[in-house]
Amino acid sequence: MEQKEEQKAEKPQEEKPQEEKKEEQKEEGADGEKKSGNAATLQAAEGEEALRPVVSAEHMHCICGGYTDAGDHTSHSDVTFTPWNGTDAITYTNGEAYVYLTNDATINTNLDVNENTLYLCLNGKTYASNGKNKITVRNGRLVLCDCDPDRSGVIRGANTDVWGGGCIYIYKSTLDIFGGKLTGGNVNRENGGGGAIALDDSKCVLNLYGGEISGNNGYKQGGAILLNNKDKDGESGKVNLYGGTIRNNSAESGGAIYVRSTGTVTLSGANIEKNSADRGGAIYMNQSGKVELTGGTINENIANIDGGAVYIKDGTVTLSGSTVSKNEARWGAAVYVNDGGSAALSGGVISGNKASEQGGAVFLRNGGNITLSGTEVTGNKAYKGGAIYANQGGMIELSGSTVKDNQADWDGGGIYLTENTTVNFNSGTVTGNRARWGGGFYLFGGGTLNLSGHLQ
Ligand SMILES: [Zn+2]
Ligand SMILES: [Zn+2]
Repeated sequence: MEQKEEQKAEKPQEEKPQEEKKEEQKEEGADGEKKSGNAATLQAAEGEEALRPVVSAEHMHCICGGYTDAGDHTSHSDVTFTPWNGTDAITYTNGEAYVYLTNDATINTNLDVNENTLYLCLNGKTYASNGKNKITVRNGRLVLCDCDPDRSGVIRGANTDVWGGGCIYIYKSTLDIFGGKLTGGNVNRENGGGGAIALDDSKCVLNLYGGEISGNNGYKQGGAILLNNKDKDGESGKVNLYGGTIRNNSAESGGAIYVRSTGTVTLSGANIEKNSADRGGAIYMNQSGKVELTGGTINENIANIDGGAVYIKDGTVTLSGSTVSKNEARWGAAVYVNDGGSAALSGGVISGNKASEQGGAVFLRNGGNITLSGTEVTGNKAYKGGAIYANQGGMIELSGSTVKDNQADWDGGGIYLTENTTVNFNSGTVTGNRARWGGGFYLFGGGTLNLSGHLQ
């Protein structure tokens, strides 16, 4: 906060050369992303006020709406958007169209973007489903932004007889979201998912740079987003979360995101918060997919059963920079690793998560493996295994991490091991963990602890 205010104070009132303005904008974008919660959102909004795009009678601004610096979108150039009332057919020139909504509109027939690229600026307006119709993209691309200074542009999703993607359905396509709020999508069909967005094949890509996906329900899978593998064709799709917020969505599995096949979810800047599910409060990986957490936050998500933040069935999760905090579950309040999946934690923070049963931070099951080499695992709580609970043959490798101030109501304040689980402790700090029995480590029924490092 302090740093932010200093930056603002230093900003001179007069007009700056373009180069300098861009530099400032970059810094603020990166700074804003590190923070979480409402305070950060307000702060970012304040900071960006000075960068308000010039919207002339011609309606010109960057494809991002003029506000967003995230991921690979770091420089801006203006394009002209033409007026669109939300109903008329859109005319594409060389496969492209740039339109902005002139008024609130109802989606009475699907807006089909097929083999074209549509740049759509919500312009602060609401584009709302009639209950059944929505936006669909096949073999094309949709780039969504909102240039409105109050960011009040909304896409309200379908909620009746929806298979997936209440707001936007894409197939063999790319979706870039720079702004706008996607809300109200509701999946009803048994095999579907993705309350707001369904990516229905193995080649789909979603890039989230900004905006908000909130208040959607994915029924069985993916409160906000489903990555499917309908075409069963090789390498799976990607969900790249560079910025923006995914908040208050719900589903049975994957409160925010459900990956049905071997896709990749990377979180480098967005905030995933307050989503809920039975398994995977934020993210659920069904097969050998990858979750790469290099920045951003996964905070305050809730799983009624396993994996408050992330549930990995048979894939890998790598944490090198994100913060995973204040999530809740019965087993594995932050991360639940099942069926031979693995977790590599080399940076970032897992703190203040709470399991009512086992694994305040991480629960390993059925041969799941975890390596900790730099992540801070602090202040997590559980009934057993305040930080880590491992059973049925898992392997824990510790070198250089801090496992500190975690707490178990019963056994294993830090790490609880059962049945053929092995811990190799090479280096790092295990300190200040509390329990009735086994403050640091608790071994039950054949766990092995190999110590070569310094224990406190
Ligand atoms: Zn831009
Ligand atoms: Zn606009």
